Amino acid sequence: MPYSFMYDLTRLSKSVFRQIFESAYEAKVHTLLGTQAKRFVETFKIDQATGLNLAEAVELIEDIVEVQLANMLQRDDFENAQRKALLLPHCARSRMDKHCMADFDATIPSYKCQNCREDCPTSKAVRLGEEKGYDVYIIPGGACAEKILKDRAYGGVVGVACGAELKMALGLLDKLGIAGQGVFLTRNGCANTSVSLENLKKVL
Ligand code: SF4
Repeated sequence: MPYSFMYDLTRLSKSVFRQIFESAYEAKVHTLLGTQAKRFVETFKIDQATGLNLAEAVELIEDIVEVQLANMLQRDDFENAQRKALLLPHCARSRMDKHCMADFDATIPSYKCQNCREDCPTSKAVRLGEEKGYDVYIIPGGACAEKILKDRAYGGVVGVACGAELKMALGLLDKLGIAGQGVFLTRNGCANTSVSLENLKKVL
């Protein structure tokens, strides 16, 4: 039976919603979305729009839901964290060849952007993060993220990556007790990937 049009959610505390989301997350509700996710993909032709096949597009939707649920659950702890890091993927540099002037420091491990191109999305994301007080890293992969987070005592981290990497990072953050926020790359691939600065700004 549909519920009444008139209702008042303000009587429910934040912790009630938190418990609902936690239970949903633990029960892996997102994986039960399979049929629903398939319906979304077919209705909105997400496979055609993204260039994925049907199964991949369904998995992408499930990943987005899982990461957004985790973002929601970790938001309060993330906001209260003292030291925060922003991890950017190296594939979002406007050039990945010798024309990128970023130096890679293997001891961190991270690239250090030299701001050689004004229109470089990575350079803009670095500036955004630094203005907000984040330590910013440009990393080639998950192993670098693990080393940075293990070596430095961060309470919160924002990671920009593809769905698969963000999903993998959830386990690592759980193990290290760090509150995370994931931002999906808007275009994925091995090079010339895109990050939405608007999406990033909302999370930072
Ligand atoms: S602005 Fe930074 S990341 Fe972009 S190409 Fe130049 S050095 Fe590389």
